Amino acid sequence: MRIDVLGVGFDNLTMDEAVAEGLRLLDEDGMHYVVTPNPEIVEVCRENPAAMEAVNGADLVLADGIGIIKGAAMLGTPLKDRVPGIEFASRLMARMAQEGRSLYLLGAKPGVADLAGKKLQEKYPGLVIAGTHDGYFQEDGPVMEEIRQSGAEAVFVCLGAPKQELWIRRNGADTGAHLLCGLGGSLDVFAGVVQRAPKFWSEHGLEWFYRLCKEPRRIGRMMKLPVFLVHVRQRRAK
Ligand code: UDP
Repeated sequence: MRIDVLGVGFDNLTMDEAVAEGLRLLDEDGMHYVVTPNPEIVEVCRENPAAMEAVNGADLVLADGIGIIKGAAMLGTPLKDRVPGIEFASRLMARMAQEGRSLYLLGAKPGVADLAGKKLQEKYPGLVIAGTHDGYFQEDGPVMEEIRQSGAEAVFVCLGAPKQELWIRRNGADTGAHLLCGLGGSLDVFAGVVQRAPKFWSEHGLEWFYRLCKEPRRIGRMMKLPVFLVHVRQRRAK
């Protein structure tokens, strides 16, 4: 049973439950994928049916950010907790490392995925980085083939939304991996190229504001947050 927030169905899971589910999917045959929509992505999905289909088609749809939690509560169908994509990814890697599992990193500017891979290998000894590739390629085929050859069990696809969700939908099954996760700008954070907001900000639901101060060019995209809240209010009024 998913909780509907303006057309996107969210799984009502705590972080622990989401990680357990991720690990279970990793062990299952076939291809599975995880998406972590925030309000901005919900708004993108409302305008883009292919994005909506790719997001709702995921095996796990995690509520990334306070906006989704607020929206679900306003609609009278609260979600248990937020499950930020980057924290989900970190917890998943810690568990994968214990079992010596392999991960491929796809996305971000040239050099970033490689640097992230080196840092993650240090942070999570036992984790196998099967390969990396930047996110600025022209053809899907060679990249998909490279992932397949690497034998990776999981892939972090960090191309920004909805590009990453559409990429997973198109190519996920052909990579041979069991679990693909769409994780936006996470590789920039893992590589240390971009800093996450200090705890104080995220604990007070202000991570978005911190990011805005650091990267003012995001203002256009962030205007989708108030638009999202207006749409939630309209839905509630109906
Ligand atoms: N990106 C990419 N290929 C593209 C467009 C974007 O690899 O064609 C990367 C970009 O370098 C960044 C990530 O995708 O690392 C998107 O980051 P953003 O902060 O926009 O994502 P969010 O976490 O907000 O979804």
